[in-house]
Amino acid sequence: MQFARIAVLSQSRGKLSSTKTERFRRGLVSMMLIGLVLLQSVGAGAWGNEGHTYINRVAAEHIPITMPRFFRSAVAEIAYLGPEPDRWRSPSEFALKNAQEPDHFIDLERVAWLDPLPPGRYEFYRKLYEKRAATASTDHPDDYLPEHVGLQPYIAMEVYGRLKAAFREYRQRLAAHQPTAAVQQAIIFYAGWLGHYVGDGSQPLHTTIQYNGWVGPNPNGYTTGHGIHAQFETAYVAANITAKDFAGLVKSPERLDDPFARYVAYLRQSNGMVENVYALEKAGGFTGKGSPAAFDFTTHRLAAASQMLLDLWYTAWMDSALPVPEHAAPAAK
Ligand SMILES: [Zn+2]
Ligand SMILES: [Zn+2]
Repeated sequence: MQFARIAVLSQSRGKLSSTKTERFRRGLVSMMLIGLVLLQSVGAGAWGNEGHTYINRVAAEHIPITMPRFFRSAVAEIAYLGPEPDRWRSPSEFALKNAQEPDHFIDLERVAWLDPLPPGRYEFYRKLYEKRAATASTDHPDDYLPEHVGLQPYIAMEVYGRLKAAFREYRQRLAAHQPTAAVQQAIIFYAGWLGHYVGDGSQPLHTTIQYNGWVGPNPNGYTTGHGIHAQFETAYVAANITAKDFAGLVKSPERLDDPFARYVAYLRQSNGMVENVYALEKAGGFTGKGSPAAFDFTTHRLAAASQMLLDLWYTAWMDSALPVPEHAAPAAK
């Protein structure tokens, strides 16, 4: 994983916030020197290819018998889709790369003043721009730009909504004795795509300003180097963990009464474990074969992702049977 650090910097998470500007500048020099090599590294994303594939696979293998048979049979397709949004980060598709990079993370420390988070993306934008406008220029107002804070829970809920709507369409077509092959494909795609963001959300370093090297006061002497992110989620996982190592930690799904609230709570739980990642790294837990403590921690984070993903699939399926309110009349323009 010689280029893993460069890969993380090259993603840059769409950020140029002031606390990261210096790191970014230094990274930029490396990037220019490395040149084209980094283009091949852009695909390395959260949890790496292996982690995202495992998270989706383990969730798919736990789909209950009460859900449609075609869905339970789609394990290979859903597993393939785990890393899908990391395939959208190439500079060769600039608009796509630019638009979707903030979807992979949220720096919860930057929105500690905003609790609960608003349920919609544009309400969130408005709150952030208000905060930015009220922040003195010496206090880094651009840290509150939506693309610097990250949009994790919003993309997750938006894809969840697509999945639920597709399940509803499936039910209606079944009831009307119409073909369902096309909507089945849509369901499998949305379910797999959703798995990527849910996977990112279980990686503590995707929920924090401490995403790749400790910043600010550092009484415990955690690493400030920029290798910890890829070392933990990509190199360590690929070398030491397989899907079967955490499959047994995943239980039958639960129907979530408030998916957005539960999802945000899941992100906050991840954020509460940021220091664990740094402490494990400091103890050498992610180096080489790693430590038992690192294995236990990492398998539980991967399992938490599979569990949340399974719960969201199950909730989307169950709630897709509920009657929907009539569409409101479009507002006059
Ligand atoms: Zn990552
Ligand atoms: Zn990601």
